[in-house]
Amino acid sequence: MAAPPRATQQITLEITIAEPLQFLLARDRRLPTFEQTIYRQASLKDVIESLGVPHTEIGRLRVNGHEVGFDHRVADGETIHVEALATPRNVLQPSMLRPVPLTELRFLVDVNVARLGKLLRLVGCDTFYDPDLSDTELARLAAAQGRVLLTRDRALLRHGCIDYGHLVRAEKPRTQLREVVRLFGLREQLRPFSRCMHCNAALQRVSKSTILDQLQPLTIRYYNDFMQCSGCGKIYWEGSHQQGLEDLLTEALW
Ligand SMILES: [Zn+2]
Repeated sequence: MAAPPRATQQITLEITIAEPLQFLLARDRRLPTFEQTIYRQASLKDVIESLGVPHTEIGRLRVNGHEVGFDHRVADGETIHVEALATPRNVLQPSMLRPVPLTELRFLVDVNVARLGKLLRLVGCDTFYDPDLSDTELARLAAAQGRVLLTRDRALLRHGCIDYGHLVRAEKPRTQLREVVRLFGLREQLRPFSRCMHCNAALQRVSKSTILDQLQPLTIRYYNDFMQCSGCGKIYWEGSHQQGLEDLLTEALW
């Protein structure tokens, strides 16, 4: 005779989500504390993400007052506190939720923040971008290369292999740049015109005489200091992409 079906397990949790993360919740959940009932065994990561908060946005998880990891299996009656990441974010130090820190701060941008990616390169941040990659490939690459994944897509950030990511809040690229500069405390580290906007490789100073055949007559006439991309060979000079750069930096650092 077949065994009787197991009774559905009911797990009721009391959840408090930190204020900076509450905008990610459904409107009827935007309360300091609410009850959530689930009917299956689940990890705390899955429970919180099912509410709309990607795990990459979480700084600390506490259950009944004790700090736990993402894989904590929730149990009936538990009290859960979800804290936001501290600012500035330090991705170079291990934490309970992210025991393996990054070796350096580098970014990978999703196609929905491609222009942010160009601006990050313009101010010298190592930023990978490839519009042809799928979400799964992006997630795997971020993990494999140890990069912070920047995106406007919450679902992408739910990929379990991503330790470091950020859901970009701002809509306009320049405001997004300011958001990222502030969030990661980059203000003192920006190095404008050190990286190619097109391919992300480092720029190197190059003598004018060696690139004359690649310059327009007016450029030859008015400019003397040139940089060349070590990756794609593109040539940069003071007037080439500087228009608006100072405005951009002022805005990003403001
Ligand atoms: Zn290049």
